[in-house]
Amino acid sequence: MLAEKLLLNVLISLAPVLFFSILNENNRKMNSPFLRGMLASIAALTCMFFSYSNYGFNWDLRYVLLILAFLYDGPVGGGMVLTTLLGARVLMGGETVVFGLVNTILTALVPFILHKRFLSYTSNKRVFLTTILCGWSLLLCYISLTTYRYFEGNLLKIDFNIPDLLLVGLIQTIAIALQAKLVEGIIERNRLKKEIQRSEKLNTLGELAASIAHEVRNPLTVVKGFLQLMQQEEKGKNYQYLSLVLSELGRAESIINDYLNFAKPKFEKIEEFTLNEVLVEVVMLLDPMAAKQGVQLESELDSTGFTLVTDRNQLKQALVNLIKNAIEATPDGGKVSVHNKSDCHQASILISDTGKGMTPEQLSRIGTLFYTTKDKGTGLGTSVSLRIIETMKGKVSYKSVPGVGTEVRMVLPGSQTPVLVNL
Ligand code: ADP
Ligand code: MG
Repeated sequence: MLAEKLLLNVLISLAPVLFFSILNENNRKMNSPFLRGMLASIAALTCMFFSYSNYGFNWDLRYVLLILAFLYDGPVGGGMVLTTLLGARVLMGGETVVFGLVNTILTALVPFILHKRFLSYTSNKRVFLTTILCGWSLLLCYISLTTYRYFEGNLLKIDFNIPDLLLVGLIQTIAIALQAKLVEGIIERNRLKKEIQRSEKLNTLGELAASIAHEVRNPLTVVKGFLQLMQQEEKGKNYQYLSLVLSELGRAESIINDYLNFAKPKFEKIEEFTLNEVLVEVVMLLDPMAAKQGVQLESELDSTGFTLVTDRNQLKQALVNLIKNAIEATPDGGKVSVHNKSDCHQASILISDTGKGMTPEQLSRIGTLFYTTKDKGTGLGTSVSLRIIETMKGKVSYKSVPGVGTEVRMVLPGSQTPVLVNL
């Protein structure tokens, strides 16, 4: 009897989530805490109606709905369910009315306090916390039951049906975990939908920006050429201004080139080469920059002679951007090291530095176009590198500890799959 009632309760308590999932699919305006609170209140009332009475208490899953409403919908949704439950409990009356009211308020208290922080947790943590809170409500119920028995003078008479109580606990825990998982599924689906819409918009904008950048590059090259000619003949005061203008023009040009490379990485000259050759060249290229900053740049390369078939310049560009970032993040006296380790299928390149590192928040933004923390930064370097490596079917991962340093691991597949890309 108890199991049947509780299973019916599981179904009733699931109804708002399922109902909402269907509504949400078709109509975005339905996404209001008020509506969700109303659905949860109706379900909570129905749960109470189909509750199982025993030991003077009513066993049902109303608290599942109460906890979820406070956690996911905040004070509006939760308050509606709480008011409904308190009102219904007063109307029901009976000897245990005070216990019922106190239980309901105490159960609601913790999710109410946690609500604000709750939504900033990860999905798994939210499901875990919701399940723990279910344990809190069960504990309150068992304490109420024991206290009631104490006042009745029956405490020492152990006539509880322990399996029944355990069953209540088990079903309630499963129900709340299941519902939290379902709600998380809906949240994730909504997030993905928004993400897709956003990326579609960005795609169009990106294409527009790329064509403008392409058009701007040509007149820029002409202006630069004439300015260089003028600079050769200029001996007066304007000479220093011309150098400044030329260096700023060079900067603008490199930003445009980086952006265009990000928008459409061009793998023009596909050739076979060993990874070590490129790594040696890149380290040599960046050595003066590291020395200027007082950073020791060292490399430890393996001797497998791992070969790649792709555009050598693009790989160089990707490596230069990442190693440059490592050098720029490292203070005077620090160290940047480049290691590689290959087997017959893939090569892994590790760029580690003893620089300022990144917080998890910064780490989550790395690779986002135009994200930079530098005064003269463009926020393009990492995005370009990631894009190039992605086109080569490789992978890049970051590990960073603020104040300790950063480790960038790049994994590249072997030469069996020549990359001939013209995106
Ligand atoms: P930029 O170098 O122009 O700022 P990037 O895309 O190359 O643009 O880098 C974006 C941001 O990522 C940098 O501004 C920096 O804050 C951070 N970053 C990248 N690599 C590292 C690193 N090795 N250590 C610390 N921060 C880094
Ligand atoms: Mg950079």
